[in-house]
Amino acid sequence: MEITEIKSKLLLSQVLHHYHLKPDKNMRLCCPFHPDKTPSMQVYYKTQTAYCFSTNCPTHGKSIDVIDFLMYKEKCTKHEAILKAKTLIEGNHPEAPGGRSGLPPKSVPTSRTDLLGRMFTYFKNGVYNSQPAKDYLKKRGLDFSKTEVGYNSGQFHHGKRKDENLINSCVEYGLLLDLGNKGRTGNPAYRSFGKWCIVFGLRDREHKIVGLYFRSTLEKKDQRHFYLRDRQGLYPGYPSGETKRLILTESIIDAASLLEEEEINKKYKVLALYGTNGLTEEHQLAIKELKELKEVILFLNGDEAGKKAVEKYGAMLKTEYPDLKISNVEVPENEDVNSLLQGHSSEILTHLLDSRKVCDHFFSNENQLKEKEQNYPSPKLFTPSKEEIKQAAKRLVKESQKGLDTENPYNLKYSGKEAKYQIKGFKINQMDSLKITLQIEEL
Ligand SMILES: [Zn+2]
Repeated sequence: MEITEIKSKLLLSQVLHHYHLKPDKNMRLCCPFHPDKTPSMQVYYKTQTAYCFSTNCPTHGKSIDVIDFLMYKEKCTKHEAILKAKTLIEGNHPEAPGGRSGLPPKSVPTSRTDLLGRMFTYFKNGVYNSQPAKDYLKKRGLDFSKTEVGYNSGQFHHGKRKDENLINSCVEYGLLLDLGNKGRTGNPAYRSFGKWCIVFGLRDREHKIVGLYFRSTLEKKDQRHFYLRDRQGLYPGYPSGETKRLILTESIIDAASLLEEEEINKKYKVLALYGTNGLTEEHQLAIKELKELKEVILFLNGDEAGKKAVEKYGAMLKTEYPDLKISNVEVPENEDVNSLLQGHSSEILTHLLDSRKVCDHFFSNENQLKEKEQNYPSPKLFTPSKEEIKQAAKRLVKESQKGLDTENPYNLKYSGKEAKYQIKGFKINQMDSLKITLQIEEL
């Protein structure tokens, strides 16, 4: 979408409404960009611009259009303002739950993008109406007022609201599977793809939804993840051109968890891989476009597969971009970004990120090694080694005879007669900030 097209589709009144701003009868507003007691901003709907007369204004007396308005209001770059404008045009902004609770309008969705955009909006509203979805998101530590996420209750093709055109499009693009047989009613039967799943949107370069990722809310071991067929797009989207430090996570939920942390969001851009073998060609092309990129941070799971992927992709990126700093966040055994949040306060993510290590074994350039030492001093003392924790745990096992599970030294489990106890602890490189959570579950 070109800037001129955006300006023709997004009205200044929509942007003002989005921020709950209402001009007075003289079309003036208290300027939202600085403290303003008397309305200093004049709105001109004729030219779709606004002008602030205050000398304190960061707009410096420039006439501002919808994109400028978003840029000043969000304190973001022009590129990000353009993306924001697009989501407003698509009606994809999370601030408007109630008003859009219905199904997509009854018209023929013309393309896959068109259909997926509409369906994602519908799924997003589904979260507000679904207790299982809310419960699941809460369990995973995700806040749907911050993260764009949907829920597919699998109901949209049922009942009196059903729409033939919509059904046909959904069958065409894989959201409904035609079961061929006719039900009791004599109507064709369909199975909803990704039913009872929470849904995330994958976006293309223009920030349009071009793919969907489904995560089951039911804990079935073998059927938890689904991508809509012909997977396309990236989550949460293409990193913006100014990206300097890019975090790669192993899963979409991990990326969503990181993005909810304001501290992290300010410093880094985040991009989800599609599993440990999921650095796709599309990811690679998106990374290639980042001319300002200085560092790629691999924040994968603390297991064998995660470690192997760090080796594989670290080496691959280093070969392709010798000047790029590749670093690795060491995640405790058998944990991942999202699981860490379930036993710890969110600071653990920042701590882990701050103590990330440059993967220096991919190269032996002295300068880069020196740089590594400057940026990442060796860990401080006073933290017991993993071996020591294991030994201590083993002693405990002997004492208590049974019931203590020490397989993961950072998550000790003990089943007593009355309750189950879990101690989730994590060492960090500062004496005063060892974090421990004790979880007691009554039996
Ligand atoms: Zn102003």
